[in-house]
Amino acid sequence: MRKRKHVRMPLVILIAAALFVFVIAVGTGDIFGLSIGNGAKDLILVNESHAVPLGYSVKTVELRNGESIGEDAYPQLQKMFDAARADGVYPKVNSGYRTASEQRRLFSENVSELRAKGMSYTEAENETEKSIAKSGHSEHQTGLAADITSDGTHCSDSIVYSWLENNAYKYGFILRYPADKIDITHTNYEPWHYRYVGCKAAYAMRAKGLCLEEYLKL
Ligand SMILES: [Zn+2]
Repeated sequence: MRKRKHVRMPLVILIAAALFVFVIAVGTGDIFGLSIGNGAKDLILVNESHAVPLGYSVKTVELRNGESIGEDAYPQLQKMFDAARADGVYPKVNSGYRTASEQRRLFSENVSELRAKGMSYTEAENETEKSIAKSGHSEHQTGLAADITSDGTHCSDSIVYSWLENNAYKYGFILRYPADKIDITHTNYEPWHYRYVGCKAAYAMRAKGLCLEEYLKL
């Protein structure tokens, strides 16, 4: 009896300590984003269960159409757009960096629209979450995401989407919500939403067919 007690106590303490460290790491976002080698900031995971970390700050660059993008993603975005134009494809950033309050407004506007169509508040909120993240949970708040469409005059959206799907990874961008990963991302297929992760990660995810959640668990 005495012997068993001595063996068990340190084990219980060890498990409790490991659990505590894990909870803290998940809570601050360190485990999935911020502590992964060089360029870790580019790999930050923001989704329904991972909020933008407290104190996260973004320096943005304003684009010609008034949208803005984080300065980490900007040079590669520019290169990607130059390459697209050289191929006769004309993209634009339809929505780039968003503040928390802009995200909140987008979310609540969509909830209101759905409620006007007869949904309950909970139904409207659940439906909205499939396409618009709650404030604090949108990649647009990181400055690393952009909704990219056609410039509206030179080509169609579908031509832009198809060019991006074939080429964006070369510039460090990934299609963040692919049609075959909805069960993992819990977000509908969005052919316009691209996320900067850096070239190394983008190439690896492309080669292995992984979405960001899967890649970060490797
Ligand atoms: Zn988006």
